[in-house]
Amino acid sequence: MKKSATTQHTPMMQQYFKLKAEHPDILLFYRMGDFYELFYDDAKKAAELLDISLTKRGQSAGEPIPMAGVPYHAVEGYLARLVTLGESVAICEQIGDPATSKGPVERKVVRIITPGTISDEALLKERQDNLIAAIHHQHLSYGIAVLDMSSGRFELNEFDHLETLASELQRLKPSELLYCEDFPHPELLEQQRGLRRRPQWEFELDSARRLLCQQFETRDLKGFGVDDAHTALCAAGCLFQYVKDTQRTALPHIHSLTRIDSSEHVILDAATRRNLEITENLSGGNEHTLAWVLDRTVTPMGGRLLKRWLHQPSRNQQILKARQESIETLSSQHLIEVLQDELKPIGDMERILARLALRSARPRDLARLRTAFAQLPLIRELLEQADCPHLSHLTQKARPFPELSELLNSALIENPPVLIRDGGVIAPGWNEELDELRSLASGATDALERIELREREQTGISTLKVGFNKVHGYYIEVSRASAHLVPTHYVRRQTLKNNERYIIHELKEYEEKVLSAQSKSLALEKRLWEELLDQLLPHLKALQLASMALCELDVLTNLSERADTLGYSKPQLVAESCIDIESGRHPVVEQVTETPFIANPLTLHPERQMLIVTGPNMGGKSTYMRQAALIVLLTHIGSFVPAASARIGPIDRIFTRIGASDDLASGRSTFMVEMTETANILHNATRHSLVLMDEIGRGTSTYDGLSLAWSCAEHLASQTRCYTLFATHYFELTQLPELMPGVVNVHLDAMEHEDGIIFMHEVQDGAANRSYGLQVAALAGVPSSVIARAHQKLNELEQQSVETKGKPLAPISYPQPKAKRTSAAEKLLASINPEQMTPLDALQALYKLRQLHDEESLTAADLLS
Ligand code: ADP
Repeated sequence: MKKSATTQHTPMMQQYFKLKAEHPDILLFYRMGDFYELFYDDAKKAAELLDISLTKRGQSAGEPIPMAGVPYHAVEGYLARLVTLGESVAICEQIGDPATSKGPVERKVVRIITPGTISDEALLKERQDNLIAAIHHQHLSYGIAVLDMSSGRFELNEFDHLETLASELQRLKPSELLYCEDFPHPELLEQQRGLRRRPQWEFELDSARRLLCQQFETRDLKGFGVDDAHTALCAAGCLFQYVKDTQRTALPHIHSLTRIDSSEHVILDAATRRNLEITENLSGGNEHTLAWVLDRTVTPMGGRLLKRWLHQPSRNQQILKARQESIETLSSQHLIEVLQDELKPIGDMERILARLALRSARPRDLARLRTAFAQLPLIRELLEQADCPHLSHLTQKARPFPELSELLNSALIENPPVLIRDGGVIAPGWNEELDELRSLASGATDALERIELREREQTGISTLKVGFNKVHGYYIEVSRASAHLVPTHYVRRQTLKNNERYIIHELKEYEEKVLSAQSKSLALEKRLWEELLDQLLPHLKALQLASMALCELDVLTNLSERADTLGYSKPQLVAESCIDIESGRHPVVEQVTETPFIANPLTLHPERQMLIVTGPNMGGKSTYMRQAALIVLLTHIGSFVPAASARIGPIDRIFTRIGASDDLASGRSTFMVEMTETANILHNATRHSLVLMDEIGRGTSTYDGLSLAWSCAEHLASQTRCYTLFATHYFELTQLPELMPGVVNVHLDAMEHEDGIIFMHEVQDGAANRSYGLQVAALAGVPSSVIARAHQKLNELEQQSVETKGKPLAPISYPQPKAKRTSAAEKLLASINPEQMTPLDALQALYKLRQLHDEESLTAADLLS
């Protein structure tokens, strides 16, 4: 852009350059009449992104100006496309009066639309949170701050590990991410949307504190429990300043900052979220996901809350039990359907309140708020009978607001238009002055009648009439025959076939009064609208609390409906460590299979922590494993579960290593992805974690793969001692139960039937004895000649194997256990410091050494036999 030679440009382009210089990195929509125009590079970019034509506008500084534009009445559609692409837009309006301006009309950037801060209904996805986040790194810690502009939820957290930050980003999926220019891990940013690089000084702790205290009107941040989260506070400061700069208005709906307490939640890492297909399936859609089965909420805000719960399951048993009790009560007292009917008209109260806070609420927003207010007493009445403390608590929060309801009832007309701009929003009877101006503006007064009567009398012309048309305004009409009787001050305007039309001074005056009444009434209406917002705003906090309670009621009623409809049962939350599921089902597969779903049990406890799951491809291994994770997850949102019964002990994390997909975008091969995920599990799983391992080691050579699968299983069973479901094709692993305590074989069976294969989908004890690989291949349509040859080859291989090793299907040399045994025992020995040990510690160490010795000699003896 030719900024250097600004003075050679037309005055309008000079104005444009000045405004553009304030927003160099984002698209500037420059209002010109009925269009928003973009110039130079902005025009080229917009033409490409929006598929609009790139034209040229006259010349400025001797060169044509590239230009592209969008009509103002269709701007929302274009903005929606741009924010989806991660672009921000500065909206520059004409604020001066074109009639009185010398030179170009005064213009100003009135708002900046950014993907993470939008609150306009048209730009947001109804059932999806839209978040803006900022991340920061300093002194070995990673901080994140995240804001939901449309509810005012503002949270932060800090982590020691980059992976945890990555997993948080995966959970939150912010539409816009602010990061410091010195952020040291560019690889983390690669797959993020709406990236905004911010200068270092925006992440200063002192400014952050000052800014946040000012917003929350507090002296310090201690009350929020975030005071020591320095890194995250730096991120929060940068984020808040950014939001203030772009919104250019007060943000009263953001009144607190909370720290996300990871210990309160069942942690799911990024891979697990993906693999379990919670809200997004593996191809990026939302069909056949857990949310797809579970979400029948009747308000968009309820839908968003349910998804938030699914992505952040709680470990707080008190919360979970309260939710279970509510679900039970709603069903037993037959409240589901009636309550859903009453909740539905509440709509998206949460986002309406955000727009109210930002003063960008539209007439229809307030009309919907009025509808919501009308529902509150009905909801309260319904829940009064419900004997459940949690439901009573929510009902109290969602209390009716009779004064506000009355306010909106009398202030707004029944069906207000979309915009306040053209008036017609405030109800008649609300303001006397407005009523007068309106009747004057519409000409609906008796002034004209009075003039008509008086003139008839004075002129003696009985046919004299006062009329109006758009071209000539008000006139007096007299028949041709009486035209000679008109007084001299009548001025002729129009001659028709039978009539003459005149104007008089008084009528002209009246006409002017009508016209000015129109603009006065519009101005007054806008003022009254602002006053209405002022009257609602002091109640914002209480309204937000009510909307949160209504959201939760929607989700609980939804879960209750789902439990009834889908035959879910209440899981028992117990203190002892166990996962005990009777007749468990996969919530999604059971909805989509054509054949009846076969329910299966699962029992895990400290003496039975690992199941080695074998069986043919398509046998149902993945389904069985995922259903375990999903049942545990559903339990931790307080939902009922697809099982005849379930007892679930404390679970801190769910890990999955399922399926193999190349993460080509980040340049990692299947095997690399697999091993990275495995490493994460081995490092972070604890005794209270649930781990699903599916077909680990398949991305490399057989011996490498088997060795890795073996050692991982061994590590999980003996060191981590977490609950593990380990599906594998390596039959050799089925020997593990004989070598290690707590490991058990189960398998999914199939039967050969004539030429085909029938999958039983039933989990049984013991290891599978065949893989049915060739039958599955035949089922998949591999040509019969190839299958026949494979049978031949298989026979040969099995024969060779029997001859050489005496064991079919196990031509494997196992990982040398010797080195491991020595090193495990040695490691323990080396870590012992006798001088600092109590006698009890010493005794325990001795037992541990003996146990290690026994386990390892057993493993070695068996492997070498
Ligand atoms: P595997 O992991 O053993 O290859 P999957 O778990 O992917 O097998 O299951 C293959 C298909 O079998 C599923 O898509 C589903 O249609 C069906 N299936 C799996 N488990 C069951 C079950 N318990 N009852 C009925 N059908 C099932």
